[in-house]
Amino acid sequence: MQVQEFPDNLKPLLLPRPRGHLVYRCLNCRTELPIDDLAYTCPDCGGVLLIEDLAFDRLKEIPGPVWRRLFDHRRMLNLAALRGIFLFHELVAPIIPLEDVVYLGEGHTPLVAANETLSQRLGRPFFFKNDGQNPSASFKDRGMASALSYLNHLLNQGRLDQVLAVCASTGDTSAAAALYSAYLSGRVKSAVLLPQGKVTPQQLSQPLGAGAMVLEIPGVFDDCMKVVERLARDWPVALLNSKNAWRILGQETYAFEIAQAFDWRVEDLAVFLPIGNAGNITAVMAGFIKLLELGLIEVLPRIIGVQSEHADPVFRYYLEAESESRVFRPIQVRPSVAQAAMIGNPVSMPRVIALSERLKELSGRELKVVRVSEQEIIESMLLANRHGHVVCTQGGECLAGLDVAVKAGLLEPGERAVLDSTAHMLKFVDFQTMYFNDSFPPDFEIKVKPELQNAPDLVRPAGVDCPGPGRPLNGEPLERFVDAAAREVAARLGLE
Ligand SMILES: *Cc1c(COP(=O)(O)O)cnc(C)c1O
Ligand SMILES: [Zn+2]
Repeated sequence: MQVQEFPDNLKPLLLPRPRGHLVYRCLNCRTELPIDDLAYTCPDCGGVLLIEDLAFDRLKEIPGPVWRRLFDHRRMLNLAALRGIFLFHELVAPIIPLEDVVYLGEGHTPLVAANETLSQRLGRPFFFKNDGQNPSASFKDRGMASALSYLNHLLNQGRLDQVLAVCASTGDTSAAAALYSAYLSGRVKSAVLLPQGKVTPQQLSQPLGAGAMVLEIPGVFDDCMKVVERLARDWPVALLNSKNAWRILGQETYAFEIAQAFDWRVEDLAVFLPIGNAGNITAVMAGFIKLLELGLIEVLPRIIGVQSEHADPVFRYYLEAESESRVFRPIQVRPSVAQAAMIGNPVSMPRVIALSERLKELSGRELKVVRVSEQEIIESMLLANRHGHVVCTQGGECLAGLDVAVKAGLLEPGERAVLDSTAHMLKFVDFQTMYFNDSFPPDFEIKVKPELQNAPDLVRPAGVDCPGPGRPLNGEPLERFVDAAAREVAARLGLE
């Protein structure tokens, strides 16, 4: 639809122009840093940063119902820069001009109602939001789109001339970073640091295919993270982990899309997210809070984080009911099928604490975190996929978390759930294979149930010639083979 065909009151708002006054804010000492430098930690106290729009109140001059109409109408505009996360330009990164936006098809992922049988089994209606249907097949693309659009903006302004982008990764950050960097190739180079042997072959193939320099480091993700933090402190590199507050902005759009998909009525929703480095849950809390402040939604949804028993530092933190007595302690992770969330010392923990407090002030309820077993995670994934969903292990973790939350009475009757399937299941297919072959190493603590196993079955009819490699059948022998094979298939299927 062309701009002149939109309602008159929306026309002047449809194409956003650069506005706003963004700064980095230290969550610890509240120091403010100028946005035009790349900053990841507070120079005064070492605290983590979030990006704040000092001119945010200008957005409140537009009433909530107008924002809703604007964002709903903008979806009909065929302008690449506004088709992805920048549909919500004013709420994401309003200082970036549309011509600097990098769009690779991220965002606006499907919200799929759970299969009826599965819903009944869980005791309530729920939905999967399939963030695996992003360009590099995980939600990380949302944050890379904002971070790389900003780098592109700096490059176009001549404030940077070459960028070496680095990240540590449990697999998906590196896939996304390498993809978006490759799109800006010539000006952005990427290097990714992976824990040796701890990412899936599919995840490893992604940065390799995008031409990134891939460096493997002994240890787990938390060790790689320490190395890239040191790199970002001492060398001129752009850090693309969610410690980079630009990533958080793009990931907030997950919350915006949920609100939009429910026609901006989220009061009866519980949103479930797996927690690893805690960037995603930070973004989703921050996103819903923005919507509330601008009157796009009237009530906040419930937010529930999920962690595996093998990587549960956030769960442990919130076990202590009194907020004054809580102490965060990093933990040593154990092998997890929810491998993308296998993190013992989440960088965004101070953000989670701050935003959960804010959630409590605004809605009377803070973030809740539930814990699930490895067994529950893998079986929930298999169960969801057996009911027509495309759910990764972290999506399985959310489904297991919904079960635990319902049984613990954390949800009101009638409340519906939205579960984040954070990546595409094909990235984690080796865990499925290990389940089907019963080949999990013992430290996963997974016992296979035969009824959930599956394997291919060879049909090779006896007494006839069968086609082989370089040995096709023709004529009579082919007829005999087809006949015998069809009879055997029919017999195995129990057909009369
Ligand atoms: C990164 C990732 C997570 C964890 O998200 P955080 O922001 O690190 O908490 C979960 N699932 C998948 C598939 C991921 O790639
Ligand atoms: Zn500080």
